[in-house]
Amino acid sequence: MQISTTPSDAAVPDERLAGILAEPGFGTHFTDHMFTVEWTPEKGWYDARITPYGPLTLDPATAVLHYAQETFEGMKAYRHADGSVWTFRPEANADRMVRSSHRLALPVLPADEFVQAVDALVQVDQRWVPDASAPGAGEKSLYLRPFMFASEVFLGVRPSQHVTFMVIASPAGSYFKGGAKPVSLWLTEEYSRAGRGGMGAAKTGGNYASSLVAQQEAIGHGCDQVVFLDAEEGRYVEELGGMNMYFVHQDGSIVTPATGTILEGITRSSIIDLAGKLGHRVEERRISIDEWRDGIASGAITEVFACGTAAVVTPVGRLLSRSGEVPSATGDDEGGPVTATIRQALVDIQYGRADDTFGWMHRVV
Ligand SMILES: *Cc1c(COP(=O)(O)O)cnc(C)c1O
Repeated sequence: MQISTTPSDAAVPDERLAGILAEPGFGTHFTDHMFTVEWTPEKGWYDARITPYGPLTLDPATAVLHYAQETFEGMKAYRHADGSVWTFRPEANADRMVRSSHRLALPVLPADEFVQAVDALVQVDQRWVPDASAPGAGEKSLYLRPFMFASEVFLGVRPSQHVTFMVIASPAGSYFKGGAKPVSLWLTEEYSRAGRGGMGAAKTGGNYASSLVAQQEAIGHGCDQVVFLDAEEGRYVEELGGMNMYFVHQDGSIVTPATGTILEGITRSSIIDLAGKLGHRVEERRISIDEWRDGIASGAITEVFACGTAAVVTPVGRLLSRSGEVPSATGDDEGGPVTATIRQALVDIQYGRADDTFGWMHRVV
């Protein structure tokens, strides 16, 4: 893919950038450039370009605004102590976007072109990758958001004949403001996120749109996040709105819900490998809400945590529902030791402080 680059003449000045990178927050500041490539059935992918970051002008009849035909990805670039910049398993994001795109009847962007696009934007905007090695800098990174959408101007219902793929980037600090404090969960018994044959396994905005009212309910009940059960029986734990779940057992085994209707996280899959290496038996299987409740009561479940690119690994505390409360396995103030060990092992690889024994890191700069 041939990429043309138009440098920004309104790039954020160094001094202001230093202020942003000191306290990046999440998803509020954007880098100086963006990547765009377009597609039609006749031309395939064409006109790949990096241009100054800025608003899009869309016709009000642009298909995505009406029928939500879109997919997206979430990944990060990390700066190592020697100044080099790396992404984490970018081919896994590329492959997942291919799977999501199949489900949403969008065209396939070849995995190598996806990685090339992300690399090109990170290279152009490399000064936006925060330095995480300074003492007290915390876990900062450059969050990358590739996305693809139906950009044809047409109100008929059929797969779009014009599609746009873009990559934008945003410096990120810790995702949850409270740091590594356990998140409290609201168990929604009214709403489900995905059903058999639906799009639960695709990373698409519609899944998030459908999760918001349940998330609102969670906040209304004083909880941080919502957790969904399977749509068929309302019995098996699926995932949070945007994070997968893990249950640590007293015998050292760790269990994560089996896939099918959940979104298969790259963090989830990396933890399967990492935890195995750390000596845990890892099981991918169904886990019912009763098993969770009883496991906490009996002590068989010793830790619960959630995982995803944005927040990496975050301990789960109490679980609230209409039928009562399941207390936190580890108290309200801290997570457990297995959660902390797995989290540390993962971020140490991402920030280049531990050997990349799985070959997950991809050098960009
Ligand atoms: C993106 C996402 C996750 C986490 O996936 P990662 O690849 O680990 O970031 C989990 N659940 C949903 C619904 C998601 O969209």
